[in-house]
Amino acid sequence: MRALLVNPWIYDFACFDLFSKPIGFLKVACLLKELGFKLDYIDCLDRLHPAMKKLKSKDNPFGCGNYYNEVVEKPDILKEIPRYYKRYGMPPYIFRELIKKIETPDIILVSSGMTYWYKGVFEVIDILKKEFKNVPIILGGIYPSLCFEHAKNFSGADFVFKGKIDDFLSILEKIFNKKFSLDRDFKKLIPLYELYPKLSYISLRTSSGCPFKCSYCGWHLIDEEIYQVFYEEVFKQIVYFHKKLKVKNFAFYDDALLYNADKHIKPLLKLIIKNKLNLNFHTPNGLNAIFIDEELALLLKKAGFVEVRLGLETTNPQRQKATSIKIDNPTIKKVIKLLKDVGFSQDKIALYLLMGLPGQSFEEIEDSIISAHNLGAKVYLEEYSPVPGTLDYKRAKLPNDLDPLWHNNSVFPLFKGSDNYLKFRKLKDLNHKLNISR
Ligand code: SF4
Repeated sequence: MRALLVNPWIYDFACFDLFSKPIGFLKVACLLKELGFKLDYIDCLDRLHPAMKKLKSKDNPFGCGNYYNEVVEKPDILKEIPRYYKRYGMPPYIFRELIKKIETPDIILVSSGMTYWYKGVFEVIDILKKEFKNVPIILGGIYPSLCFEHAKNFSGADFVFKGKIDDFLSILEKIFNKKFSLDRDFKKLIPLYELYPKLSYISLRTSSGCPFKCSYCGWHLIDEEIYQVFYEEVFKQIVYFHKKLKVKNFAFYDDALLYNADKHIKPLLKLIIKNKLNLNFHTPNGLNAIFIDEELALLLKKAGFVEVRLGLETTNPQRQKATSIKIDNPTIKKVIKLLKDVGFSQDKIALYLLMGLPGQSFEEIEDSIISAHNLGAKVYLEEYSPVPGTLDYKRAKLPNDLDPLWHNNSVFPLFKGSDNYLKFRKLKDLNHKLNISR
């Protein structure tokens, strides 16, 4: 049995490779390998792919960088956005050349990220269908998990699944007309990073689920259950990837990495420190500050966390209460002090803020930006991106059949008029000025 796995390119207004790897997809690859499949793998977002050598941009010191990109025509509903729309990642002509060299597979799996990136997914499926006629294509990932009907009706895939591994196994059973069962728990499988010819970083999820349910966040719709991989197993994975694949930069993409800290992150970091691994750790997802105490702050520093990014989202107390119970202003203030006391400098502590939440006024966001800067940290301002099925999606009174292109955080402000779009531009400028003035 042979499977081809493809992670498609992306269409967006902006995109940067910030430790972006399809972790769940690589676990599915591991599952297929355990089931006896031979694998071919193309990650169209792999900046280090040998076929992209001539098109590669420079890495930053931690192995991240800009994707190769080309300006393309905007879809009609995005015409008013005064920015270039681009395809990021491998150009289709290189992809076509690569798949021509591949032995015809028995199944093809296509992964997907953000709902509003579906255009790249559709194109990849279309090309694969033409090259491998009659080979069943299975689509999974975040996009069909959140917009199942859209994916089923328009993607062109033969099978679409919502992220549940049992559903995926049922699809395999239908295709091969035989039973597939896995000896190990899927959650314990290790992403099959060996499929990459070269790597500059490894991204890991050491847990799934989150104890909070913020009104703007859709992760609970994908990962309902809280589960943490035993810390010694995580440690072994890190050592293995470091030694075998020569990787020094590791990013954690957990939703709640610090939850249950005494039994998970703290013992893991103690092992890392004790074994003097001397690695760099990154947290592109905001950490939950509420779990950081003095001991954990020190462990983060000693273990090699480069920058601590904290999810704050707003400093408005009413908004905090209405959207989440994950943080409040006294806690964030206390945690920033703890981090500074153990040696993180101001430019290595970052706060994520959201703008454009339903009902949030321009003035409220401006206040949040100013008071977040006054806390003495760098601020990353993120535009709110509506996620179907969340409380804020309902609060925003968005129709269920809204084209997922509108979910794009670069685009959504325009949904409420071009005036809004310009106001948001000003807020970003203000935040940028405050960041560089320190
Ligand atoms: S804490 Fe983060 S991952 Fe958890 S629900 Fe809130 S936004 Fe989502």
